[in-house]
Amino acid sequence: MKKILFVTSEAHPLIKTGGLADVAGSLPKALSDLGEDVRIIMPNYQAIKMTDEVRYLSTVHVNNYAVNILETRLPEANVIVWLVDCPEFFDFPGNPYVDEQGELWENSAERFALFCRVTVEVAMNRSWLDWKPDIVHCNDWQSGLVPALLSLEHNRPATVFTIHNMAYQGIFPSATYLSLNLPGQLWNMNGIEFHNRLSFLKGGLVYSDRITTVSPTYAQEIQTADFGYGLEGLLSYRKDFLSGIINGIDTNHWNPETDANIKKTFNHLTLNNKLVNKEELQQRLSLPIDKNIPIFGLISRLVEQKGIDLVMDCLPEMLTHPLQFVLLGSGNKEFEQRLQEFAESHPDKISITIGYDETLAHLIEAGVDIFLMPSRFEPCGLNQIYSLRYGTVPVVRKTGGLADTVIDTLPETLNDNTATGFVFDEASPGALMEAIKRALILYSLPETWKQLQINGMQKDYSWTKSAQQYVALYNQL
Ligand code: ADP
Repeated sequence: MKKILFVTSEAHPLIKTGGLADVAGSLPKALSDLGEDVRIIMPNYQAIKMTDEVRYLSTVHVNNYAVNILETRLPEANVIVWLVDCPEFFDFPGNPYVDEQGELWENSAERFALFCRVTVEVAMNRSWLDWKPDIVHCNDWQSGLVPALLSLEHNRPATVFTIHNMAYQGIFPSATYLSLNLPGQLWNMNGIEFHNRLSFLKGGLVYSDRITTVSPTYAQEIQTADFGYGLEGLLSYRKDFLSGIINGIDTNHWNPETDANIKKTFNHLTLNNKLVNKEELQQRLSLPIDKNIPIFGLISRLVEQKGIDLVMDCLPEMLTHPLQFVLLGSGNKEFEQRLQEFAESHPDKISITIGYDETLAHLIEAGVDIFLMPSRFEPCGLNQIYSLRYGTVPVVRKTGGLADTVIDTLPETLNDNTATGFVFDEASPGALMEAIKRALILYSLPETWKQLQINGMQKDYSWTKSAQQYVALYNQL
């Protein structure tokens, strides 16, 4: 058994803005089920939704702040959470990264630098908690200074740094570095300096003992200029210490056999019941009810990363086929408007819902036949995995976690029952349209289609498998 301090800026269901919260809410639990002694450490934001009791543990002094360490638990899990309580920084409305108006916190660097310093005190067992971790597992730029600062300590724990999305790096002016009072040894090209600015992310990438990211393909991609944001050189230099471990999903919440958000539950033996959800979806979205027409679905933030523009470029040609298309999402206003115009001119084929709707997301996964996910980059991606579980065949671009979770339908993969979806290479409307046409052809062969659905539904997407890979990594250290 190892002692693991899991450092994160968010954890579901305490506080969530994105995928990191899902990982931080699930992985520590799965590690703990495997017998590891895991504690989460995160800032005590005002917005945290606390359900369990909170108790005071100790006070540490860093940078002239007296910071309390509080203890609670992850709801419905026996995982200890340590909250770094410094009201001067965290007791404000808003989320971890933006204020109530949606503006980035002006003092983001100060907030997370303090969080990192306190984490180092805890990691070095200098905060009166009588617990010293073997491994400090950091996540994304907000915890990037932890491996950097720990590198200056004697008898330090080993460090792991996980990249959930390279697009966010925590870059600040060099003046911020000075105001943070950070040790001079860290400020150089081979340290946390990045083109004369301070990079929190580099702190994690340079100084941690192991780097991971959330899929094996993304681990390769970030070593190239297209995905590395100028850090590809550093990442390929450290490639022997870099690996990819695919995220699991919450298999209780996303389970077609028990899902309370859908009209009729089903599994791979009762796929006919999926059609009840199809009809329910068509009815709810005012589309013609027809259980034989293929429905395409898409649920996403509407941003360029997700290839929404590729889908819009394909829609005119898609409309020449007998099919329906339902989309749920929000984001880029121009995308929202163009999509809504499509729906207005083709209300019998297209339904666009702008907004965030967890319940509708479940019904779409259960009701549609084909899921579109043509992302330009995708560190891991969740919706393609939900789709596989719900017998909804994904069409994905060959990148990141999409490439690692969906197996293209080819004569040989059909033969050995490994095919689970349709994969295309180039980020172009033409390539996406080819994949869509391939999907339509297979859809017209009911027996083959059913086998595709079953292939995807029978795979293991649980956190246990991923957690075992993290344990194997910890054991190398
Ligand atoms: P990312 O984290 O880049 O947004 P992922 O596929 O990894 O993409 O995760 C997105 C998560 O957010 C999924 O759980 C997806 O179902 C959910 N989601 C995104 N947009 C919406 C929406 N408009 N309504 C409901 N759920 C959404």
